[in-house]
Amino acid sequence: MRYRKSIWLNALLIINLTICASCNKVTIAPMSEIPDTYLKEIAMIRDDPHWGAAVIYNPNTCKEIGEACGFFRLHAFAHNHLNHTLLAKPSSYPVSLETRADCWAAKYGKSNEVYAAAQLLLDKDRNPAWIIHGDAQQRAKNIRICAIENENWLEIN
Ligand SMILES: [Zn+2]
Repeated sequence: MRYRKSIWLNALLIINLTICASCNKVTIAPMSEIPDTYLKEIAMIRDDPHWGAAVIYNPNTCKEIGEACGFFRLHAFAHNHLNHTLLAKPSSYPVSLETRADCWAAKYGKSNEVYAAAQLLLDKDRNPAWIIHGDAQQRAKNIRICAIENENWLEIN
């Protein structure tokens, strides 16, 4: 593990996720998000001794991908919120759990971020350094369907 203690001490940030107003209300426990420029993933979740679980994300990658980052952070958060066993490697989650995390994030995420993530997944020319797990086309399709079902799909032209 390359996470350094300084990152922990400097960057702990309590967030209260803002859940879309038109969706069913859910109570989200405060948890931490920790930026880590060494992280190869866009975002992931792991056990955290203080918070129970923490979302780790790469702030540089987030700058590059823009609004889509919020979706991927929420996807990571969803794994914990949906009581998935947290895995050291994001690539190890079974497709069924990935699909559920995507769907949850598509339901409760900010609609502009959900849309941006779907577009990123559909973009075959995206930067290969942005690590995407699973079938990107299929994920985009699932995200769109889940967002539409929950009135959270907003196409931006
Ligand atoms: Zn996942």
